[in-house]
Amino acid sequence: MTALGLDDLKARLRLPDPGGAMHDVVRELYPLCRSITGNGVRETLKIVGRQIPLEIREVPSGTPVLDWVVPKEWNIRDAWVKDPSGAKVIDFRRSNLHVVGYSQPVRARMPLGELKRHLHSLPDRPDWIPYRNSFYRDDWGFCLSHRQLQSLPEGEYEVLIDATHGDGSLTYGEALIAGRSSREILLSCHVCHPSLANDNLSGISLLSLLGRYLAELSPFYSYRLLFLPVTIGAITWLARNDGALSEIEHGLVVTLVGDAGRTTYKRSRRGDAAIDRAFAHVLKHAGDHEIVDFSPYGYDERQFCSPGFDLPVGCLMRTPHGQFPEYHTSADDLEFVKPEALADSLAKTLAALIVLENDRRYVNLNPKGEPQLGRRGIYRAMAERSDGGGREMALLWVLNQSDGMHSLLDIADRSSMPFEAIREAAQLLLEHELLREAVPGELGRGGRS
Ligand SMILES: [Zn+2]
Repeated sequence: MTALGLDDLKARLRLPDPGGAMHDVVRELYPLCRSITGNGVRETLKIVGRQIPLEIREVPSGTPVLDWVVPKEWNIRDAWVKDPSGAKVIDFRRSNLHVVGYSQPVRARMPLGELKRHLHSLPDRPDWIPYRNSFYRDDWGFCLSHRQLQSLPEGEYEVLIDATHGDGSLTYGEALIAGRSSREILLSCHVCHPSLANDNLSGISLLSLLGRYLAELSPFYSYRLLFLPVTIGAITWLARNDGALSEIEHGLVVTLVGDAGRTTYKRSRRGDAAIDRAFAHVLKHAGDHEIVDFSPYGYDERQFCSPGFDLPVGCLMRTPHGQFPEYHTSADDLEFVKPEALADSLAKTLAALIVLENDRRYVNLNPKGEPQLGRRGIYRAMAERSDGGGREMALLWVLNQSDGMHSLLDIADRSSMPFEAIREAAQLLLEHELLREAVPGELGRGGRS
C-alpha cells in the first residue's frame, strides 16, 4: 500500500516548508510575460523543468488540432504610451498587464479620444490594472488603473507596441512519472497568463512540487503532468494523443489553489468518477469546503470532459474564477497567494491521491463470526502504531465489509471514518493474514484490474 502525505513529502524532499517553496516558484515565474504562445511560456517551462523531468513540446503554427488551428507565435519586446509632453505614462516594463495580451503591433500618434478606444480600466476598482487579451482576434490595447485613465490630459499621444505575430509554434510541457502500473493519473494546469499569481502560477507551483515528490516514490499509477496554454493547449494535446487516452483512469485540473478562500472541487462531467468520490471524501473530513457539479465553463476540464473524450477529470480550486474581485487584475499578486493555502491545497491533493492509489477490494479470510483479534496480537500492534480511539472500529468495519464487493473507500464512506484509518486497518489485517486482495471480477464486482 502506498502512503503519501505532506509529512512524508517534507521528509523525502528535505523540505520543511512546502508552502514557502511553492510560493517561491510563484515569485520566480511572476514577472514573465506569458501568453498562449511565445517565449514567456518557454521560459516558464524551463524553470519548471529544473524541478521535474519535463518534455517541452513545440507544435508549429497552422497545425490543425481538432476543430482549431495552432495560432501564430506572439512575442513582445516593448510597449508604451507617451502623453503630449512626451512622458511615458504607460510602460509595459513596469507591469506586463499594461498590454492587452496577444496585441497586434502598433506605432502611431493619435488624440486621447481615439486612444481611449484601446484603453481598459476597472471603474469600480480604480487602483487595479485589469488583465485583458485579444486571442483569436486582431486588436491591440493597453490596460491601466481607472484613476490613471481619468488623469490623462487631452492632446496627442504616441503609442508603441513592439510585438511580433509570426510562424512559430505553440509550446507546452509534459512529464510522465512512471509508476508500477501503466494506468495513468492525468494532472493539468495552465501556463498562459502573464503576471497573475493565483490564476495560473498557483497551479504550476503545486504540480511542480507534486511532480518532484512523485518522482521520489514508486506509486501504483503513472502520473502524466501537463503544463498547457489554456484551451488551445489542451485541444492541441488531446488532438495529438487522441487514441492513446485509454490508459487515463483519473484526472484533475489544478487552478486557483493559492487564495485564502475555502477549497472548491468541481466534479467531472460523469459526476460519479472515482476522483469525484475521492475528493468528496477527503474534503468532508477536512472541514469547510464546497463541491460543485460539472459545468462546461471554467478551465481545461471543459476540453477533457467534452463528450467525445468524457475523461474522468475534475477540477481543484479554492475560490472559483469570477467569484473574487482580484480575478484577472493586478491584485492577483504575490500577496494574494498565501503559502499556507498552497500547502493546504497540496495536502488535499495528496489525500485524494492516496485514496486513488489504495482503493482496493479485499476478502476477509475468517468471515464466519469475528476473528479473535486479541489472540493474534492485533490490539497490541494497533496500540503501538496509532493513537487508539476509533482504530478498533476501523478494524471491525474492514473485516465486516471485506467480502470482495466493497472497496476501502466504500468502507470509509459507510463508516464515516477517514480513508487513512481504514487503509491502516486493512494494512494491519493483511499483515496478520486476515485479508487478501480480491481477484478482479470476484463475487460479481471484484477489485481493480
Ligand atoms: Zn484566467
